[in-house]
Amino acid sequence: MRPLDFRSDTVTRPTAGMREAMAAAEVGDDVFGEDPSVIALEQRTAELLGKEAALFVPSGTMSNQIGVRLHCGAGDEFLCEVNCHIFNYEQGAYAQLSGVAAFPVEASDGLPRVEQLVSRIRPDDPHLVRTRLLCLENTHNRWGGRVLPYDGVAELCGWARDNGLATHLDGARLFNAVAATGVAAADWAAPFDTVSVCFSKGLGAPVGSAIVGPRELIERRAVRVRKLFGGGMRQAGVIAAGALYALEHHRQRLVDDHRAATAIAEAVRQCEGLSVLGGRAETNIVIFQIDAPPGTNRTMVDALAERGVLAITVGHTSVRLVTHLDVSLDDAVRAGETIKHVWTTIGASATA
Ligand SMILES: *Cc1c(COP(=O)(O)O)cnc(C)c1O
Repeated sequence: MRPLDFRSDTVTRPTAGMREAMAAAEVGDDVFGEDPSVIALEQRTAELLGKEAALFVPSGTMSNQIGVRLHCGAGDEFLCEVNCHIFNYEQGAYAQLSGVAAFPVEASDGLPRVEQLVSRIRPDDPHLVRTRLLCLENTHNRWGGRVLPYDGVAELCGWARDNGLATHLDGARLFNAVAATGVAAADWAAPFDTVSVCFSKGLGAPVGSAIVGPRELIERRAVRVRKLFGGGMRQAGVIAAGALYALEHHRQRLVDDHRAATAIAEAVRQCEGLSVLGGRAETNIVIFQIDAPPGTNRTMVDALAERGVLAITVGHTSVRLVTHLDVSLDDAVRAGETIKHVWTTIGASATA
């Protein structure tokens, strides 16, 4: 039997309907701006996010790094939360590609507070980098798919604007925040200058992300940076059609993923010695901490894999499962049962 794959929401295969849309896609050379399927995807994405323009790019890493580059140059710095993807999982690309520094701050829930940041804007002084940008992430991957509180986000972005900082949102899973709250994508995006969204995560497209923002910034500058970073694609309509299909057909069903994640979190909560990050699954990610010697998380992931449930380790003490299009509620219940079963043996020996 094929294992139940909860390693990430990036493991989905295109559905039959999506493959049909991809096969039928009209294409052109998108570096010449002539791919009708890419143009359609960009227009629809911009519209959903309430921004003037969108640019289709190969990955979420590229859309974030274009975002950083649009707002910062060499010798500039951005503020962010210490567990965010841009800071941890993109090889420090802001430094490698753009000569930009990061200033991460700790926040117990993924959202820094104004009081923490006021003293972080550096004064104008030739000894210092220039603080230019605030980056946030919603939903927050490392905080277990947490949805940032809307009012807190709006307040922080308002403060940033008042203090001359640009704002960028890593919204790789922004549509999960929409599904979880009922707050529209355009409302989530409104406080930010630029927003990155991924079609290849919960939405289930095979490839692609987009960066959205003001027309001038996206159509003149972001297009140039995308080419510089090697992201100018030719007949990209084939994949853009898959992304557009995902956008139109897979947003509503994200609540199913959230229900499935909740089932897993409930099972984990029944295990003494395991604790769900944030106490519950807010969206499609479950991260649980293991109260046992570091490395027990690896033993746990291996034992789960032997029983047909794939998960990944996070750090030295946590395990992550992500729900998506290709796993059902029943699969999630089975994963929960498997976690409970495996933990009865591992937990007993690890804490003995
Ligand atoms: C996956 C992810 C990205 C990067 O997307 P890739 O397409 O894998 O480069 C960025 N931010 C967050 C929060 C992510 O989960």
